[in-house]
Amino acid sequence: MKPTRNLCVYCGSGPGKQPAYMAAARTLGKALADNGIGLVYGGGSMGLMGETARTVLENGGHVTGIIPEFLTQKERMLTDVQELIVTTTMHERKLTMFEKSDGFIVLPGGLGTLEELSEVSTWAQLDQHTKPIIICNIDGYWEPLLTLFSHMREEQFIRPGLDFKFDVVNQAAQAVPAFLDRIANMRQTVPVKPVRQTM
Ligand code: AMP
Repeated sequence: MKPTRNLCVYCGSGPGKQPAYMAAARTLGKALADNGIGLVYGGGSMGLMGETARTVLENGGHVTGIIPEFLTQKERMLTDVQELIVTTTMHERKLTMFEKSDGFIVLPGGLGTLEELSEVSTWAQLDQHTKPIIICNIDGYWEPLLTLFSHMREEQFIRPGLDFKFDVVNQAAQAVPAFLDRIANMRQTVPVKPVRQTM
């Protein structure tokens, strides 16, 4: 059965240095399955991405993998998921991931993860959606980025009218509760405007 809620997880295509990162992927995957929330992710089988998806499946959850054609070999597309979407371009992948999700959880990752987080954050800044963004600061991994956000705020490049909301949790186990809490307190969980038409 298709879940009524889906969360997009952005995370590394590698395992990272600290075992805590892969452990966080497993904790999050189990929490998604246990709460009946579907996983939307980049479709690969490697690193944190693969670990999150496999854990959701092992615990009886629902996975939607979305991958551009040119990455199906490189990121070893995971095929035994309930829904698999192969897109023509990276842009189409990101937009489809956005459209299919009710919120975004960010685990540790590299440039791809950072790019995805930046994109949904700028869309929020520009009032194109109000979907929750939850950053999992596992072992302080995202601390330098959070410092940069504060610096941008202090220097008034992130400023009133151009601000955006995100939550930071330190444990993967706190991510799903933070999402549920955020949507319970929101009047509107759907995009203000369909991003596909405006961005
Ligand atoms: P990384 O965090 O660099 O390990 O990448 C995580 C995921 O982001 C992988 O599936 C990458 O294919 C994807 N990715 C890499 N570059 C981009 C990009 N420019 N836009 C969106 N996703 C990307």
